[in-house]
Order: sequence, then C-alpha cells, then structure tokens
Amino acid sequence: MFNIPFMKSTTLFLLFITSFLTVIGQRAAPDKIETSAGPLTIQPILHGCLVLSWNDKTIYVDPYGGLKALAGIAAPDLVLITDIHGDHLNPETLNAIETSKAKIVVPQAVADQLPENLKSKAVILNNGNRITEGGISISAMPMYNLPEAPDSRHTKGRGNGYILNLGGKTVYISGDTEDIPEMRALKNIDIAFVCMNQPYTMDINQASSAVLDFKPKIVYPFHFRGQNGLSDVEGFKRLVNAGNASIDVRIRNWYPEY
Ligand code: ZN
Repeated sequence: MFNIPFMKSTTLFLLFITSFLTVIGQRAAPDKIETSAGPLTIQPILHGCLVLSWNDKTIYVDPYGGLKALAGIAAPDLVLITDIHGDHLNPETLNAIETSKAKIVVPQAVADQLPENLKSKAVILNNGNRITEGGISISAMPMYNLPEAPDSRHTKGRGNGYILNLGGKTVYISGDTEDIPEMRALKNIDIAFVCMNQPYTMDINQASSAVLDFKPKIVYPFHFRGQNGLSDVEGFKRLVNAGNASIDVRIRNWYPEY
C-alpha cells in the first residue's frame, strides 16, 4: 500500500536536504573541454587554486584553502605553485593533501620556502624554462607588478606564470601579475586564467585590455578577491566582449564557503 502523504513529505524532505547541501557546498561545477587525448576537466577551487584533470593526470595549481577546499578530489600527480605568498605557497594545504605521488613544480624562490618534508618533490622551473612531465609540457613565464621595481609586491623573475600544453590545448595561468608585455604578446592560448584584484595585481581595465591583446578563446577571471572585496568580474566580461564578442568569458564561483 502506498502512503501518498508520507511519500510527499519524504520527497520534500529529500529536496530540502539536497538544496541545503548545494547551498553549503557551492563548489563550482567543473567544465569539460575536448583535447586530442580526451577531455580536460577544469575545477575552480578557491581564489587562485584550481584543479585540472586530463589523461588520467590530476594537476593542482596553487593548492589553498586547506583539506576542506580539496575534499573529494583525486590526489595530484603534479602540483604547480606560482609564488611565495600564502595564497599560492600554502604549507597548511600542502601538508593536508596526499602528495605521495606528486611532483611539485616551483620557481627557485618557492623551492627555498617549501616545507622540508616536500623539498625532495620539487622540480625547479624558472622564467623562460620548459619541461615535460607526464606528457604535459609546462613553460614558466614572468609575472610581476608594473612599473618593475625591486620593492614591488611581485618582482620580475621570482614567481611563475605557467603555460601548459594538454593534448593540443594551451592553458595559461597568469600568477599574480599586471598587464605585462609578455602576457599581451601571448599567442594561440585556448584557455586563460587571469588574475584581477586590487591593490595586488590588475584592475579590470588592465585585465580586459591585456586579454583583448592576446585573445584567448576562453578566459576565466580568477584570483579576484582584493582589499575591498571582490572585483567586478561582470564588468570585466562586458569590457572584453565589447572589444571582442568571440572571447568566451566564463564567470565562476571562486569563493565558495568551505
Ligand atoms: Zn595571490
């Protein structure tokens, strides 16, 4: 015998629980992009942290936010770290995640500050260097503040932006930078992750102007929490698309509550 009122209340209860979990979870849904070696999955995590999954490899970029932020995500084969600041080189998160099989790609300045127990995993890559790890080509490029100065927050040569080639798709990760000529001169970028937060990196005018110069097919504004809250990423999208309607600007939730 079916008890209709009971089933109704059970369904409502399950709906309530599901929406509640969605609200507290809030991690952005992953995106999938086809490559010559199967799909590349892009998972926004938090601020400048993202996870790429491709060809049975899991790549963490700037792991940050502690174990909670990365819960349920496969252990990394590769960890890329861009710079020495705590939102990029985060010992608490690095020590919380499973890094037994991981290589950690870092510039020298980050290698010097890695927790002692992780130093043996470091693969040092400085601006202008390129390596291949697990079928993934990784190039390091500059990231720095303008005007270039020895006392700036991000001095040229210390941190890395990264360019990855995954099955024919080129991915650019900006690191913390302003609209440097090296970024404006990039060519053939399929997917770009571009920072914009004040006073640390760019404002949305600099970021959109640089993006209009290098014309990635897809751009994710990320790392957009600044001193006075979140940058206007919708405004960034309008600026980019006013100049070039074919650039796919993807706004995602990079600041879930964990
Ligand atoms: Zn940062």
